Amino acid sequence: MAVRPTTFLRLKLREAAFISRALLSTNHVVLAHIIPMRRCNLACGYCNEYDGSSKPVPLELMKKRLDKLAELGTSIVTISGGEPMMHPDLDLIIRHIRSHGMIAGLISNGYYFTPERIKRLNKSGLEYLQISIDNVEPDEVSRKSLRVLDKKLRYLSEFADFHVNINSVIGGGIKNPEDALTVARRAVELGFSTTVGVIHDSDGTLKPLSTKEKGIFQEVKKLGNKDHARLNWFQDSIAEGKPYNWRCRAGARYLYICEEGLVHWCSQQRGYPGIPLDQYTMEDFDREYKTEKWCAATCTLQCVHQVGILDNWRDPQKTPAQIAAEQITKPQTQTQTTQSYS
Ligand code: SF4
Ligand code: SF4
Repeated sequence: MAVRPTTFLRLKLREAAFISRALLSTNHVVLAHIIPMRRCNLACGYCNEYDGSSKPVPLELMKKRLDKLAELGTSIVTISGGEPMMHPDLDLIIRHIRSHGMIAGLISNGYYFTPERIKRLNKSGLEYLQISIDNVEPDEVSRKSLRVLDKKLRYLSEFADFHVNINSVIGGGIKNPEDALTVARRAVELGFSTTVGVIHDSDGTLKPLSTKEKGIFQEVKKLGNKDHARLNWFQDSIAEGKPYNWRCRAGARYLYICEEGLVHWCSQQRGYPGIPLDQYTMEDFDREYKTEKWCAATCTLQCVHQVGILDNWRDPQKTPAQIAAEQITKPQTQTQTTQSYS
């Protein structure tokens, strides 16, 4: 099994507690993605989230950022990149997340997993790992390939005490859509959970999946995590090439913290709001919670959608222009305070 049953149960119970807390109150962060390392050992053709030379963020700075996330009431911190396994202090970063009682997750391309490294991650308290596998054979677009990573997956299946999810992708001009099914079947065989992401075309436009792609997409979904499938209705609209109506709470319930320590809506909307995390206030949180995101209808970011579901039924949003107009017309005496939407 990829994860010991007791570890999995403990994680599920902790997740359930965090979901209840998130439903009861809207004034805390649910999920933060944090980047300790922009550098990556790979250079996937579709990726705009890596460089080949930057240095790791120093441990002390990472700890301060995590302290601030804890102060904002964050439930789950997922370490992403670049390739976070290249950070020399990754284990200590994970320990620091856990020391605050937050769930610790990791997104990696899988290249650096050895039995010894996996055992160290067990000790650090890592709770879940996600690896995206794009194809079966490496090609000019991606080397995140089952053929290259299968040995690493076997190590994980044998040694990991943390939950492992394998994500496959479909759409976006991926050459062999059937690869997603091969990847998902292998993940299930090794005892991992599996998810599938529908991605945009390389020019960013939303196009419906072909009939063949749709068939494979439904088959992969059947193999996958049922909770995840329930939380990802939006993917069915995206698969049809149709816009999806939802409320993105990025900048509030979901935060993306880049290597410079700035808060962004997400990996694809860097620059908004672009405020340093150490200066981020509940006033910023409230504004972003209420702000309608212009990119929402065609967004494919699964984790932000899942966070959005928690509040989709409450607190309608306004456009950035409406919010800016409200700020201008607000009486001088009125100070904005932390608002609870629950
Ligand atoms: S492995 Fe991940 S971060 Fe690195 S280039 Fe590929 S998609 Fe980007
Ligand atoms: S809608 Fe999607 S792309 Fe736009 S800010 Fe939210 S998560 Fe990012």
